[in-house]
Amino acid sequence: MNPEERECWRCFLCDRSSAEIGPHPLPVQQSAHLLPNRLTGAQRRYGGAKNVFTDAEWKILLQAIGPELQPEFSSTDQIRKAAMALCYELCGECHEEVLSEPVYLPSVMDSLKKHFRGKSRVEKILLLARVLKLGTKALDC
Ligand SMILES: [Zn+2]
Repeated sequence: MNPEERECWRCFLCDRSSAEIGPHPLPVQQSAHLLPNRLTGAQRRYGGAKNVFTDAEWKILLQAIGPELQPEFSSTDQIRKAAMALCYELCGECHEEVLSEPVYLPSVMDSLKKHFRGKSRVEKILLLARVLKLGTKALDC
């Protein structure tokens, strides 16, 4: 990133610039993917991603989230590639300290416990995505 790009950089979520964030214990400019690398293996690092989605899991995932991503893409293969590549520029605080470390209240855990029972890994991932979608929708009302 050149100095001009660095000057224009802003966190997608909190809209702060590097200068506004100032010194921070975590790197300021980070990239957060729609889907964690451990599930997609999009980036070869740390000796390769662990336990990536199987084709069957991809199928279930894309059936559920595909329609939301679909308007721009015509094939399942394109949607899969887009889902793997979709990335947000985030500050270290938003990415690592907030999004990656959610607070699960006991009441939320009790509810998730009911809904996670008997679900596969991809179904649990989709259930949590739905919880986030419903929660943010409620915030916007
Ligand atoms: Zn931020």
